Amino acid sequence: MKLKKNAPLENLLTLKIKDSACDLYIPDTIDDVVRFTSENESFHILGGGSNIIAGKLKKPVIYMSGIIGTSNTEDISENAVKTFMPGGISINRLLDYSIKNGLSGVEFMAGIPGTVGGALAGNAAPAEHTWDDVAGALYIVSKGAVSMLIPKYGYRKLINAPEDPFIIYGVDLILIKDTTENVRQRVMYYLSKRLRITEPSAGSLFKNPENDFAGKLLDEAGLKGFRVNDAALSSDHANIVVNKGSGCYEDFCELRDTAIKKVYELHKIKLETEVKFWDE
Ligand SMILES: Cc1cc2nc3c(=O)[nH]c(=O)nc-3n(C[C@H](O)[C@H](O)[C@H](O)COP(=O)(O)OP(=O)(O)OC[C@H]3O[C@@H](n4cnc5c(N)ncnc54)[C@H](O)[C@@H]3O)c2cc1C
Repeated sequence: MKLKKNAPLENLLTLKIKDSACDLYIPDTIDDVVRFTSENESFHILGGGSNIIAGKLKKPVIYMSGIIGTSNTEDISENAVKTFMPGGISINRLLDYSIKNGLSGVEFMAGIPGTVGGALAGNAAPAEHTWDDVAGALYIVSKGAVSMLIPKYGYRKLINAPEDPFIIYGVDLILIKDTTENVRQRVMYYLSKRLRITEPSAGSLFKNPENDFAGKLLDEAGLKGFRVNDAALSSDHANIVVNKGSGCYEDFCELRDTAIKKVYELHKIKLETEVKFWDE
């Protein structure tokens, strides 16, 4: 296990926050991960950093993208396989794997950044998709022990999550046998539906309230393109948080608080953040 004291996080967060820093633990093996969870009661888990806004952190951070491990696939029926996928693997690599091996089930993730573990922790997906149908079992590391969990998902959450903090070390995916060409075509289809964001971003700042859309509510409150210094809501989609250059943690907090206040004043709806804010 490597430790980088007071490491800048700017290059590990897709939003590129200038002033974010922490004591960063980089495990080499599953034993490192297990030991870390037995020695530290409270910590953050960093995957691809595509859904996090962080400042200067007191809690240690374990960086799961650095620990890759190997995938393996076994037949479970004539048409389906079970594939073990390490949590630190990027979604892009998962898609490459599924195309190369003609295995279908995760194409809906095309264009979403981050890691398998990060996606499974928060049920990250495009609208109307979920990991329920494809995630068979999660391998969890918590308090120095490894366990298995059959996940149940809700909107942007793991409903039956164990007590925090827990690390998703890997997952058994249930995938359907298909052809490389069919899987590739579906990946291209999902990619073609994505909004292209060219600035550093952490995706949607807020969750959609029930039966409504955060983007629409923000837009109606006049917040499309709204800025606090370099922290901004995109001028293409009001719910996408972007960094115009040197946005720092406090700027993003003020952006969040102002947006919540303005939407509440207009609609009497309190928006909840989808992006995780880390300040301790
Ligand atoms: C341009 C852009 C587009 C996006 N589009 C979408 C979209 O369409 N739909 C959507 O849902 N999201 C979207 N996102 C948000 C983000 O990509 C997803 O939430 C992604 O799955 C997060 O994965 P990550 O590895 O980057 O997690 P991180 O950002 O590193 O972490 C996110 C959360 O997951 C936890 N976590 C990370 N890894 C693990 C692990 N191994 N075990 C346990 N917990 C872990 C972290 O502690 C944190 O709480 C988008 C983001 C961007 C920048």
